[in-house]
Formats: sequence, C-alpha cells, structure tokens
Amino acid sequence: EGMALVELAKRSGKSVSSVRDVLVNVGEKVESEFETLSIDLVELVAMEIGLNVKRLHSSEGAEILPRPAVVTVMGHVDHGKTSLLDALRQTSVAAKEAGGITQHVGAFVVAMPSGASITFLDTPGHAAFSAMRARGAAVTDIVVLVVAADDGVMPQTLEAMSHAKAANVPMVVAINKCDKPGANSERVKLQLASEGLLLEEMGGDVQVVEISATKKTGLDKLEEALLLQAEMMDLKSRIDGPAQAYVVEARLDKGRGPLATAIVKSGTLVSGQYVVVGSEWGRIRAVRDMVGKLTERATPAMPIEIEGLRGLPMAGDDIVVVDSEERARMLSAGRKRKSEKDRLAKRIQEKAEPVESPEETSRSVELPIIVKADVQGTVQAVTDALRTLSSPQVFVNVVHVGVGPISQSDVDLAQACGACIVGFNVKSPPSSVSLAAAQANIKIKLHRVIYHLLEDIGDLIIEKAPGTL
Ligand code: GDP
Repeated sequence: EGMALVELAKRSGKSVSSVRDVLVNVGEKVESEFETLSIDLVELVAMEIGLNVKRLHSSEGAEILPRPAVVTVMGHVDHGKTSLLDALRQTSVAAKEAGGITQHVGAFVVAMPSGASITFLDTPGHAAFSAMRARGAAVTDIVVLVVAADDGVMPQTLEAMSHAKAANVPMVVAINKCDKPGANSERVKLQLASEGLLLEEMGGDVQVVEISATKKTGLDKLEEALLLQAEMMDLKSRIDGPAQAYVVEARLDKGRGPLATAIVKSGTLVSGQYVVVGSEWGRIRAVRDMVGKLTERATPAMPIEIEGLRGLPMAGDDIVVVDSEERARMLSAGRKRKSEKDRLAKRIQEKAEPVESPEETSRSVELPIIVKADVQGTVQAVTDALRTLSSPQVFVNVVHVGVGPISQSDVDLAQACGACIVGFNVKSPPSSVSLAAAQANIKIKLHRVIYHLLEDIGDLIIEKAPGTL
C-alpha cells in the first residue's frame, strides 16, 4: 500500500523532481521525497508519466473464502443462448422473490439446494465477453458453450471456443435442443472432439450436459456440472478490505441518474464509499441486490446495482474504492486526461502512417454509423461487431454511440455526417423523429439480433461498394 516518492521515481526511471512536478500539477503538496504516497497518488502519478500500475491489495492476514463462480453463456446464433438464460433466470433468486418478473440488469444468481450459488452474466455471446476482456475485466470464471444438437458445431461455436481458450477460461458444454427430432448429440461430441476439445467421457476434463432450454430439461445437471467445475477451480477471494469490482452494464435512469450493474471481484463494497469507476467517479448512494433490495455491503461474485456515480461508466470498467471525494475527483480527472492523451496519440499515429499504399487509397468508401442500444454493454458489443465489417475497401466508421432510443439529435448528427442509424434492442423512435429521418433521407435500422443486423449492414456495404465483402 503506497510508496515513497523516491521509490516511485526510481521504479519509473524518472527524476525525483519530475515526479514532484506531476504531484504539484495535480495540487498535491509534497513535504519530503521520503513521504509515503497513498496508492491513489501512486496510480495518478503513474498514469501521468505513462507507467502501468496494477493495484494490489495485500491479502496478508485477510480472510480468503470460497466464492461463487461467475458464468457466461456463449455459442452460435440461434443455438439457444437467450432461451437458456431465460430458463435459468426463472430459477434465479430474483425471479423467486419477485414473483417471476425480473428486469434485465446484466446478471443474476441461481441458488442451489446445497446452499451454493452460481452467478450468470445475462449478456449472451462472445461480443460482450471480448469487449469486457478488452478492457481488462476478467470477470468470467466459466463459459457455458451452447451447441444445438440438430445443428452441430458452427462458426461462432468455434469462435466462442477460441475466446474461452484465449482467456484461459474453462468450458462446460451444453448440448441444447435435445428435444428436437433431428437432435444428434453424439455427432456434436465427435465434432467438438475433432476441434480439440477434451471431453470428459473421452478421458478429458470438459463436462458435457444434454439439455433443452425450452422444455427446461437437464438444467439441474448443467448447474451441477458448473458447481463441480467451480469446485475444481477452488475459487476464492479476499472478503475483507476495500473492494475491487467490475461494471457489467450501465444505464441512465431518469430519476436515479447513472446506474451500474457490477460484480465484486474481491473485498467488500460498502454503501457510502467513494469510488472511481473507469474514468468516472461518485459516492455510492445505494447498493441494491438483484432483487432490488437495498443492502449495506456487497461481497465477491455478488451482482449489485450501484447508484451515485457522476457519469455513465462502460462495461468492463474497474471500480476502485478511494478515501475521499477529493481523491475520487483527482483520480477520475487523471484517468480522463490519460484516455484523452491515448486518443490523441492514436490519432497522431494513424495520421503518421503512410496513406499512399494502394489499399488505403482505394478504401475510398466510408460508411458512418450511429449506434443506439438499450444498455451500455450492448452498445459496445454492437459497435465491436459492426467494426468487424470494415474491409480494405470500406471503412465502417462508428461516429457516435449512445444508450436509449433514437432521438432527434441522433437524426441531426446523422444528417451532419451522412450516417445511418442503428437501433439495437430499442423501441421504434417517435413518429416525429422517424419523419425527420425520412425527410433527410437517413436510414434507420432497428434490430434485436446481431446476426441480422450484420447481414443488413453488409447489404448496405455492398450497395455502397459493389463487389466488396
Ligand atoms: P440464441 O441466438 O443463441 O440466443 O438463440 P435463442 O435462444 O434465441 O433460440 C433460437 C431459437 O431456438 C428460438 O426459436 C428458440 O425457441 C429455439 N430453441 C432454443 N432452445 C431450444 C430447445 O431446447 N429446444 C427447441 N426445440 N428449440 C429451442
């Protein structure tokens, strides 16, 4: 915890006076270079001088206890990820206590008769998984790989496998749609084995469970398999001390302001604490559990909703606890400066790259897109997915993203930059907005399935640049 100025200077290879300058710039007085700087200050200075620090809370003497596993569902489109999550959600603690009606909040907990529980992230697909990982958030402990028994291994099945492998996250296979006449789970197992997955029944350690998400069969077996996998992994976290947590989803509520669904990784998050979340900050005004009940504290793997942030964070942002409002403001400002610097550096780098190459000059077609979606996590997933459509000929340029329905200001922006507007999982815009868009000849694309959206935008690209894709 903390470090003296001289030590920090030494480790970063900077002079003591340059480190002192950074501190003075952010309004800190430094009495002596041997004075211990708090971990917040160390992080701030490190950011300013371009050094990477990871906060390590010493777990010496702290209580390390078993914690529930955090599970993500992945697999090919239409193989039943959403149906499986729906079915599991109905058995969740929230559904039981709220009489079956739950709103989408990004995560839910299923409690087993044994007293153990499992936390499920409620955003299916690898787009969300990799967006989180790209921001350094290793939230998922186990991946459920859903494969439809009638369809077998498909391209996104393989993609999901690669993502899990790259993240070093173990998988449990759920062969879904076993109720269907054409179901052939043996064929699926052989396909998976030939892709290098070491299935348990073939001597490996990857468990396979046969289920039907719609008929709700095999779900208990799947939950047992997940518990067993979690047991083998011996998942434990520090319970005491300042929390480290991750944002799973964030949204803006008219009355309550920015709300973030978060999962605690270690430590305990307590209502009233000051936090820095990504580059935003706030004082936690309320912590709610997944039933919406106010709670004082949140422990590892517990999904919670926090209220009191000053701005909207992004999925995958880390949450760290700081001592005071001053610290929170300072760190948040430091992080904002840092991301602004990174953005500038990137732009300069992009500009400096030779533009003369034939590919670059022929990439004359640009497709500007505005993305609106229901929640922050989806915004990111959709944006990432759209960007994959860029090719040497066509540049898919996501010019603006936002949470919520498509508004007049989106249409104005679209008109200004010749963009089309994508609405994902959002209501149809009000008729005045639709009318304005139609008059300005702006395309609005509303979708609820990524795959369909990509197809649709793919068509647009072909329209713009025939012979690409
Ligand atoms: P996702 O794209 O992976 O999220 O797939 P969905 O959950 O949206 O499911 C795609 C289609 O498969 C829907 O029409 C579901 O009703 C259907 N489906 C999902 N699970 C099952 C199942 O276990 N049995 C059958 N017969 N159909 C299923």
